[in-house]
Amino acid sequence: MKPTLQGIAASDGIAIAKVYTLTEPDLTVTKVTVEDSEKEVSRLDDALAASIKDVELIKETALKNLGEEEAQVFDAHLMVLSDPELIGQVKDSITSNKVNAESALKEVTDMFISIFAGMEDNPYMQERAADIRDVSKRVLAHLLGVKIPSPATIKDEVIIVAADLTPSDTAQLNRQYVKAFVTDIGGRTSHSAIMARSLEIPAIVGTKEVTSIAKDGDIIIVDGLSGDVFLNPSEEVIAEYRAKAEAFAAQQAEWEKLKDSKTYTKDGHQVELAANIGTPKDLEGVVNNGAEGVGLYRTEFLYMDSHEMPTEEDQFEAYKAVLEGMNGKPVVVRTMDIGGDKELPYLPLPHEMNPFLGYRAIRISLNEPEMFRTQLRALLRASVYGKLRIMFPMIATLNDFRGAKALLEEEKAKLIAEGVAVSDDIQVGIMIEIPAAAVLAHQFAKEVDFFSIGTNDLIQYTMAADRMNERVSYLYQPYNPSILTLIKHVIDSAHKEGKWAGMCGEMAGDQTAVPLLVGLGLDEFSMSASSVLKTRSLISKLTLSDMQALAAKAINECATVEEVEALVAEAVSKI
Ligand code: PEP
Ligand code: MG
Repeated sequence: MKPTLQGIAASDGIAIAKVYTLTEPDLTVTKVTVEDSEKEVSRLDDALAASIKDVELIKETALKNLGEEEAQVFDAHLMVLSDPELIGQVKDSITSNKVNAESALKEVTDMFISIFAGMEDNPYMQERAADIRDVSKRVLAHLLGVKIPSPATIKDEVIIVAADLTPSDTAQLNRQYVKAFVTDIGGRTSHSAIMARSLEIPAIVGTKEVTSIAKDGDIIIVDGLSGDVFLNPSEEVIAEYRAKAEAFAAQQAEWEKLKDSKTYTKDGHQVELAANIGTPKDLEGVVNNGAEGVGLYRTEFLYMDSHEMPTEEDQFEAYKAVLEGMNGKPVVVRTMDIGGDKELPYLPLPHEMNPFLGYRAIRISLNEPEMFRTQLRALLRASVYGKLRIMFPMIATLNDFRGAKALLEEEKAKLIAEGVAVSDDIQVGIMIEIPAAAVLAHQFAKEVDFFSIGTNDLIQYTMAADRMNERVSYLYQPYNPSILTLIKHVIDSAHKEGKWAGMCGEMAGDQTAVPLLVGLGLDEFSMSASSVLKTRSLISKLTLSDMQALAAKAINECATVEEVEALVAEAVSKI
């Protein structure tokens, strides 16, 4: 049977369950004159009571799944739902204007939202605006009788279908119930895809139209290995996919045997396989999958999971937990990478035409030095609890690096003067994700301790193809000879200066790319924890000299990505 839809396979595995749509409901309100105001007031009271019940349930679940701090936002929502001033004004408007509850609610809450949101230098009031916006949507949905999805309250095994999932939606998903997800938009390197891999649930992104086809309760099969989606399949297809899921589980059990090994090619060349994490909670997956370190800790999730700027203490605790959890194995912590598709509710960024080319990552950190210094201090204080490596994201010029390093040195000197212990063995490196830095790697290599190639961005910037846009996702071409040439220059430049080169973009765990990267001399591969064991298994079957010849051939003789793919497929078929 042909699949109903095809998308981009974003996270391995096979799942079969019922659809749960996570789509924005239609909350269009029409103003109607009513005779019976009392009835409207009582409809409003019912909707408020139902909303309070919802929010209490969400709060309870968030408390269990996510922790106290994340659950606090729902207290604010409960306060709005019983705020006498706001509710009083809505009721007044119903009675004095003789209008329906929906339109009175909308008018009054819109007014409060615009007053609070306009207080630009008052983040507290802006947050209240966000609370009222959220809560009023819920009450409106009850008044209009439409469903408002709440991923945190899911209590059955489901597969989520959504246009896209924001990082905070993804953070709310409970693996026990959410078996997979499928989206309309996104690519292999969009953050929802990355989160799916760290949650280790199958995911397919960029199907373009799953939300217009799938309905709540439909049976759906998600094949995260091929990108195939089946809606309401026959019993025969279900049986076929149950068998595939079992075969996949058996393959995983085989890889499991490599959990406690180091990573060598067949002829004894050693590389390091590390994992990418977003929060300290991901460490479990890192340890269970036998990673030899953390090659990328995306600290921006610490900022995104909070309702206010995390304090130095909050950050210190998180970094310490990761360093201790890794027990002396290296941990590369990337300083905050906000911007692009990652926003902070309490740090309003200007709306930009091209956020991926705009005010992002180190550019924000250098422009907001106090915020950056807080992060650096927390990192330096945590450094004595393990093997810390600090990495700056989105470095374009040597001045970016020098500016960031100078702030780090200043904070280090201050802490030492204050008598605080700081490790004297912290490597400081950069991500290579902007082509300018890749091209100038031979200069950067003289000043940094290491490189980590961020191919998710390096490819989008080199190919001029937005990583979030599925229309141009065919240009995400990790094996394009142009990309391989840049990578080679970065690795060779590091080695010439006696430094190491790693990769923490998704390409590092891509099974077609791995033989090429081994051949190019990459020292460290950092990937989703769920890819570590299969990559260790693949590398153990490769021979260094053969891979060197393969990579040289790909760069010197191939003109297109298809030629490189064919070359690798042929080489791998012989191992
Ligand atoms: C990258 O760009 O390859 C990378 C690892 O960073 P992020 O995906 O967080 O932008
Ligand atoms: Mg990046």
